[in-house]
Amino acid sequence: MNVYDSDRMVDLLRPLGYSLSNSLEQADLVVVNTCHIREHASEKVYSDLGRLRDLKVERRAGGRDLTIAVAGCVAQAEGEEITRRQPAVDIVVGPQAYHRLPQLLAEAERRAAIRRAGRRLPGAGVLDTDFPAESKFDHLPSPKGVRTGSAFLSVQEGCDKFCTFCVVPYTRGAEYSRPAGAVLAEARQLVAAGAVEVVLLGQNVNAYHGEAMDGSVWSLARLIRAIAEIDGVARIRYMTSHPRDMDDALIAAHSELSQLMPYLHLPVQSGSNRILESMNRGHGREHFLRLVDRLRRVCPDIALSSDFIVGFPGEGDDEFDDTMRLIEEVRFASAFSFKYSRRPGTPGWSMTGQVSERIKSARLAALQTLVARQAHEFNRSKTDAVVPVLFSEMGRKPGQIVGKSPWLQSVYAYGPANLIGRIVKVRLAEGHANSLAGEIIAGQEATA
Ligand code: SAH
Ligand code: SF4
Repeated sequence: MNVYDSDRMVDLLRPLGYSLSNSLEQADLVVVNTCHIREHASEKVYSDLGRLRDLKVERRAGGRDLTIAVAGCVAQAEGEEITRRQPAVDIVVGPQAYHRLPQLLAEAERRAAIRRAGRRLPGAGVLDTDFPAESKFDHLPSPKGVRTGSAFLSVQEGCDKFCTFCVVPYTRGAEYSRPAGAVLAEARQLVAAGAVEVVLLGQNVNAYHGEAMDGSVWSLARLIRAIAEIDGVARIRYMTSHPRDMDDALIAAHSELSQLMPYLHLPVQSGSNRILESMNRGHGREHFLRLVDRLRRVCPDIALSSDFIVGFPGEGDDEFDDTMRLIEEVRFASAFSFKYSRRPGTPGWSMTGQVSERIKSARLAALQTLVARQAHEFNRSKTDAVVPVLFSEMGRKPGQIVGKSPWLQSVYAYGPANLIGRIVKVRLAEGHANSLAGEIIAGQEATA
C-alpha cells in the first residue's frame, strides 16, 4: 500500500514540475513514506532523517536547499514529535491527507522564504495528520505509465477490527471502501497505461463493500468479476485478506474466473485458539483450516501464503506448537513471519506474559525453517511446468529478466528486455528456495 501511495504522490507532484530522481544527491525534495507496523520500521525513520538532516546542512552551505517531508503511518502516529526530534523536517503528512501535498509544499516554501529573509518562524514544520472528510481518492490524478505490466490499485483502506497487537486502525483510520465506479475507472486507466495485471489492495481487502453505480453494495467478489470483464486485464490479484471476510462468492471466484490468479495471502497469525482469542482475531484455528479446505476444493493448485506473529503475550511452548502444527497441516507456498513487536497505544502493550527476546528469536527461526522448507517443496513441485510468466524487471545478471508465475513465485529467465510488461510462456526448470529458473519458450506468447 505504501508503494501505491508513493506512486500517487509522484503523480501529484509531477504537474508542479517535479520528476522522480534515482539519486538522493540530485533531489530537491525527499518524501520519506513510512511504516509504523513494527517498532523496527518506525525507529529506522529517525536514523534516515538524521542522514537527510546532514545532507540538508551541506546543501545550505552550498546555497541550495533540500525539502524533507515525512509521509505515511509514522507521520500519522507521531505527528509533531517528528519535527521536535528532527527539526530539519519541513512537512509531516498522514496517509489520508497526502493529496494535499501541493498545498503543504507551497506552505513549506513560504516558510523557507521567511527563514531566508532572516526572520523567525513560529512552530516547526507544516503538519497535516487529519482524516479529512473528503476522500483523498477523489483528489488524486489518474495513474501514469505502468512499465512493469503490474499495477497496484487501492480499493479499501483502514480497519475496524482492532486486533490487540495492531496499530493500523489508529494510523490508517476507519474502514473505508472506494465506490465501485471509481475503482473500475482507475482499472481502465491502468490498462491504458500498460497494465496487464491489477493487484487490488486493502488492509482488509476482502471486507470490501463499495457502493456500486446503481446504489447497491458490491462485495470484493462482485468487484473482481467486473474488473475481469475489462478488456486487457489478464491477471487479477488481491491482498491482504482476513479469514473472517472470506465469503462463499470470493472462494467460488477462484474456480470461475481464469483471470483471478491461484494465489491467496490469508494471514492467520497463530495456530492457537487461546492466542487468536487474545489477539481479538474473531475466529479460531478450525475456521482457518476449513477455509483452506474449501479453497483447495475449488482451486486445487492454489498457492497459500500467510502472516505469523511469534511471541505474542501469553504464548507458551504449547501455543507455539499449535502454530507449527497448523503450518505442517496446511503446507504454505510462502509466509511472512515476525516477532511480536509491542506497539504503544495497543492493548497488547500492557498485556501480561510478554515473551522474552531470546524465546521470540528461537521460535521465529524454527518457524522460518519450516516455512522455507515448504516454500522450496512448493517451488520444486512446479518443475517442468509450462506456465505464463509476467516479466516485470531486469535481473541482476546481464540478459536476465525477472517475473512472476501465476502462484506469485519469482521466475528468472534469459530473454530480451522488450518482454518486460508482457506475459510469456516459460518452462520452469529449477525450483530453488525463493525462486525458480525458467526458459522462455521460443516464439511463444500467452495472454493469460
Ligand atoms: N489486515 C491484515 C494484516 C495487516 S498488518 C490481517 O489482519 O491479517 C501486516 C502484518 O504485520 C500482520 O499480518 C502481522 O503479521 C504483522 N504485524 C502487525 N502488527 C504487528 C506487531 N505489533 N508485531 C509483529 N507483527 C505485527
Ligand atoms: Fe491490524 Fe489486520 Fe487486525 Fe485490522 S485486521 S487490526 S489491519 S491485523
